[in-house]
Amino acid sequence: MNNFGYSRATDIADAVRQITANPSAKFIAGGTNLIDLIKEHVALPSRLIDITHLPLCNVEETEKGGLRIGALVLNSDLASHPQIEARYPLLASAMLAGASPQLRNMATTGGNLLQRTRCLYFYETSTPCNKRDPRSGCSAIGGINRMHAILGTSEHCIATHPSDMCVALAALDARVLATGPNGERSIAFADFHRLPGDMPQIDSTLRVDEIITAIELPPNGFARNYTYLKIRDRLSYAFALISVAVGLEIEGGTIREARLALGGVAHKPWRDRDAETQLNGLPATRASFQCAANTVVCEARGFGHNDFKIELARRAIVRALTQAGRGTPQSQTDKRISGSLP
Ligand SMILES: Cc1cc2nc3c(=O)[nH]c(=O)nc-3n(C[C@H](O)[C@H](O)[C@H](O)COP(=O)(O)OP(=O)(O)OC[C@H]3O[C@@H](n4cnc5c(N)ncnc54)[C@H](O)[C@@H]3O)c2cc1C
Ligand code: SF4
Repeated sequence: MNNFGYSRATDIADAVRQITANPSAKFIAGGTNLIDLIKEHVALPSRLIDITHLPLCNVEETEKGGLRIGALVLNSDLASHPQIEARYPLLASAMLAGASPQLRNMATTGGNLLQRTRCLYFYETSTPCNKRDPRSGCSAIGGINRMHAILGTSEHCIATHPSDMCVALAALDARVLATGPNGERSIAFADFHRLPGDMPQIDSTLRVDEIITAIELPPNGFARNYTYLKIRDRLSYAFALISVAVGLEIEGGTIREARLALGGVAHKPWRDRDAETQLNGLPATRASFQCAANTVVCEARGFGHNDFKIELARRAIVRALTQAGRGTPQSQTDKRISGSLP
């Protein structure tokens, strides 16, 4: 048992003050990931700073016509929020694909962003793991790596980011708002999570003395042509082998704007701008979607057990784009992928 202190933050300034005074402390929100990590001796915080009483539970319109989601909005409340269901159904679908109803009732928006990898070696403290214990080695390379990354890996870590919500937020071009000792800053979602490089112990660009206060969504939610496709070992309550978030703007059968992000393939939600650019101006057909899928996986690399993910990703991308193009986002078993779409 590792002893730790406990205190409640009274407001955001107090939360920042407390974490600045004690950088080995951790904020606790829903606790659905952090408590597991503490029980497994993977996280050893000297203090838990309880932020659950801070006023960060609202979903509000922004001046730009988007939405601002407080960091303590529960995953279940967000997925069923009328504005999210109507304007950002891609985000609602992704959230409902994650975890279980009980977990979503506890898990918060801010905590979801900072949940840690599900690499088995990361949780098994008797094995080397560069993310848990820097410079100790990576047990997954040459070990059991069926769930691991195929893109953006390094020789130091091949872990994936496990969130579903974050894949949709990446596709939607969300921003993360954080407050630290120097005030508030806004971080583009693409810059929030990191690739492992030679510092896999650091998951994000959030500083240790900062608190996430909100997520901002831009006005366009791609509510007409979207899909979140999650491929997993069980139909529910399992992390993604591959997931694909797609948003399309289609005019007269031609793609005007494409968004494409993948989960389960990299250390961060994987957004492929080249594939998106390639789709812009093309007809919404299977041939176009196959080109984009080939672009995404052209630099993918397997590590043995996860080699199958390269072809799985290619097929999942084509299927997700097809579903989004047809406006049938919930179709899980569509076998009628045809040569051209309306
Ligand atoms: C069995 C199981 C299955 C799951 N399946 C899925 C799944 O399929 N898909 C999926 O996406 N997720 C899944 N999850 C993960 C779940 O979604 C996350 O555990 C949850 O979103 C974390 O939110 P939390 O509020 O409980 O975070 P906590 O556990 O409280 O915190 C997580 C981390 O975030 C930090 N933190 C929290 N809030 C803030 C803030 N505002 N500012 C700065 N730091 C903060 C904490 O210090 C901690 O480091 C699963 C979890 C479990 C246990
Ligand atoms: S993949 Fe990353 S998290 Fe898993 S054992 Fe290797 S270093 Fe650790």
